[in-house]
Amino acid sequence: MAREIDHPKPVADWETRGYWEGAGRHTLVLQRCRSCGVVQHRPRALCVSCLSSEIEHFEASGRGSVWTFTVTEQNQVPPFRDATPYVLAYVELEEGPRLLSNVVGCPPDSVRIGMPVVAEFRSDADGLAVPVFRPA
Ligand SMILES: [Zn+2]
Repeated sequence: MAREIDHPKPVADWETRGYWEGAGRHTLVLQRCRSCGVVQHRPRALCVSCLSSEIEHFEASGRGSVWTFTVTEQNQVPPFRDATPYVLAYVELEEGPRLLSNVVGCPPDSVRIGMPVVAEFRSDADGLAVPVFRPA
């Protein structure tokens, strides 16, 4: 039985702090442009559509669907080595952006494109958390 991935620690800087603080509360936080309304991820200082700096953070639903995925059978790099096989997936969030993550909580060969998923969070002792997705 594969273990879960012991994710490397994320680095929160001034652009990504809102996202990681939300993750620490087990909430998926995205950015929305106040000028044009575009929702974006990964966190940035400027809107990817209109280059406005009027960016706000908001709590996303955590719901989405598998946009595409692969099952990793071999990875010799710790900490991923002990977690194989695992699913690496782009999840299309219902707010629009796609997020690269893992699908957990189901056999890897049961994952399908379009499968509804919902975010949950893996925390470490320091309170840092990363989102993964399980079948909804
Ligand atoms: Zn914009």
